[in-house]
Amino acid sequence: MHELPITESILKIVLKHAEMNRVRKVTAIHLQVGKLSDLEDDWIQRYFDYLSKGTVAEGAKLKIERMPVVVRCNACSASYEMEIARIGDLVCPACGEKRGTLLSGREYTVKEMEVQ
Ligand SMILES: [Zn+2]
Repeated sequence: MHELPITESILKIVLKHAEMNRVRKVTAIHLQVGKLSDLEDDWIQRYFDYLSKGTVAEGAKLKIERMPVVVRCNACSASYEMEIARIGDLVCPACGEKRGTLLSGREYTVKEMEVQ
């Protein structure tokens, strides 16, 4: 269960932006979450509802967009998108190399907020 600390940091970012922009109410938050992250959408929302009680973000809907997994080839440095289902057999489309370095897929970012 690491949704809780992550949700806390998301809320912190949201509240900071809300304060800077003198927002009275946050109605929705657009999140980008890497497809490799095992965060469960339901749990993030549940924790968010719990943590945001009494703040301007109380009741905000989280809109979660899953971001692609991007790998950089260890041999030719080409970067390519990978399907989760094929994570066990990485093959670089440019040169056929099987080893690569994960560039993105586990991150989470607050992309946008809808406010009143
Ligand atoms: Zn390659």
